[in-house]
Amino acid sequence: MPTLALPQEQRNQPCLTAPSAMRGEVSMTDGSQLPQRDATTTAGTAAAGDVDWASLQQQLQKADAGTLYLPGDSSYYPLSIPQNHRYADVRPQGVVCPGNDTGENGAEGVSIAIKWAHEQGLPVAPRSNGHNYAGYSTTPGLLLNLSRLKNPCLIPSNGDTPLLKAGSGTTNADVYPWLRRQSAPHVAIPTGRCPSVALGGLVLGGGIGFSDRKYGLTCDTLVETTVVLADGRIVTANEHNEYSDLFWACRGGAGNNFGVTVDFTFKTHPVPAQFSVFDLKWPIKDTVAVVQAMQNLIADAGTPDGFHLRLGIGTSGRSPAESAENANCNAMGEFYGTAADLRKLLKPVLDCASPTLKSRIEDMDFWRATDYTFATTPVLQWGGKSAIVNEKLTPDQITACVDAMKTWPGSRNDDGAGIALFAMGGAINEVRPDATAFFHRNAHFIMALESSWADDDSSATAQACRDWLNSLYTQVWGANGPDHCYQNFPDPDLTRWSERYYGSNYNRLVEVKKKYDPAGMFHYGQSIGNQSQINPDPA
Ligand SMILES: Cc1cc2nc3c(=O)[nH]c(=O)nc-3n(C[C@H](O)[C@H](O)[C@H](O)COP(=O)(O)OP(=O)(O)OC[C@H]3O[C@@H](n4cnc5c(N)ncnc54)[C@H](O)[C@@H]3O)c2cc1C
Repeated sequence: MPTLALPQEQRNQPCLTAPSAMRGEVSMTDGSQLPQRDATTTAGTAAAGDVDWASLQQQLQKADAGTLYLPGDSSYYPLSIPQNHRYADVRPQGVVCPGNDTGENGAEGVSIAIKWAHEQGLPVAPRSNGHNYAGYSTTPGLLLNLSRLKNPCLIPSNGDTPLLKAGSGTTNADVYPWLRRQSAPHVAIPTGRCPSVALGGLVLGGGIGFSDRKYGLTCDTLVETTVVLADGRIVTANEHNEYSDLFWACRGGAGNNFGVTVDFTFKTHPVPAQFSVFDLKWPIKDTVAVVQAMQNLIADAGTPDGFHLRLGIGTSGRSPAESAENANCNAMGEFYGTAADLRKLLKPVLDCASPTLKSRIEDMDFWRATDYTFATTPVLQWGGKSAIVNEKLTPDQITACVDAMKTWPGSRNDDGAGIALFAMGGAINEVRPDATAFFHRNAHFIMALESSWADDDSSATAQACRDWLNSLYTQVWGANGPDHCYQNFPDPDLTRWSERYYGSNYNRLVEVKKKYDPAGMFHYGQSIGNQSQINPDPA
């Protein structure tokens, strides 16, 4: 029977905001204490009675390949809820954590679980660390929680920098401290900025962060991956072997589509001797000038690839009045060079408006800089949308963002609301749109638009936050929306998502899906080949 011991993944999970159950406040038997959920979420209703859990448990135990958790086990709740609590009502009937106590035999555990679920007729969803915006790592069937699968290691590579191999459950916060502890010369890979995002979802959907203009997206540095297919086979895919089509799809084709990826092997890059960071904040009135100046910098072919930027227009507060007061424009980033050179690069921006609310530009050790720029914000519940920005935003589009910040309804989530522009270009755009499944290779920025609320906000507040986001999206991108969107910021309300996430790569992704998952075992609202959702709007 399922063990009640505190699982390794629960001890290791660097959750930004511990769900209340982890703090021991929620009783599994008292649904009334659970956080308020998105009214549109449908909880799973499949009956558990006929399911042969004992056989799954026996197979996992015999192979020393994982642990099963069922409702009633103390670890079930924290292992089963996603980071976006909007979707926490979708409860799995069981959770398998593949891998033994030391994180080995993970592929075998996944294979056993997939074959067993197929026999039992249960749906399956993999989860690496549950950050999917749209709750796509939830299931009313069997959840594969891959957070045990870490075990990073460096592999020598013929005089080049070593390769890094790491399990899908390895988080951004695991990678850098581990690499830092290895002997010099130090190496790193480009990852995202959120410490608790796991490699599993990040790589499969692309992976943007503060080294991507110089070294490419996280998925661009992938050289090999181990995947458990829908029929339970364990295969290794790379550019040169018989699974090169699968390897292509694993670089941008998004998670939960072609199989369960258990580990990734990446090219690494040397850690630079000279590194610097900037962290700037302006009053909201300066936003149009600042955004225009930053856009010019990113569009300028002379701007070094080592310049990385997240430009934000944001706010937070409990009411519209507080939102108006807290609205601001901010910029944070990292530079492969000295602070003196960084200051010169930023001069046109600083000349157009002085960052009077915060102004930090300084040399910083690479590892410290990574810590400094990690974004540790509470997530709780949120709605998110995105746009691939190929042309500079117009003053009207920027002004629409500014005006919206002043009218955000407010919530109890300190993450607030806003837009973020992640600079693209450099090495990202040197890759052809069809060379990997990540299509967006001509952009200046990826724009994220978000609005957040807390578990204990009223449903009226949650609705107001969602309405605000929808209205902002329409004001900035018009009724038809942007041409393309980032598949790692999935939006369940997005129409024509296949074209918007994958462009002309979509048909090829459908072919890969048919080959490796012909029966559609890996399935969700926006999964590859989900006909019911393809181009639902006639526009
Ligand atoms: C607070 C926050 C900050 C973020 N910051 C960034 C950022 O800086 N850069 C960036 O690019 N993105 C960022 N993202 C988006 C993030 O990259 C995606 O949400 C990513 O998919 C999360 O990965 P995960 O494994 O934690 O999520 P999960 O929810 O576990 O997985 C995401 C999807 O992939 C599937 N999946 C997970 N693991 C596997 C696997 N091993 N095999 C097959 N399918 C799998 C899941 O079923 C789900 O559909 C951020 C998200 C959040 C919530």
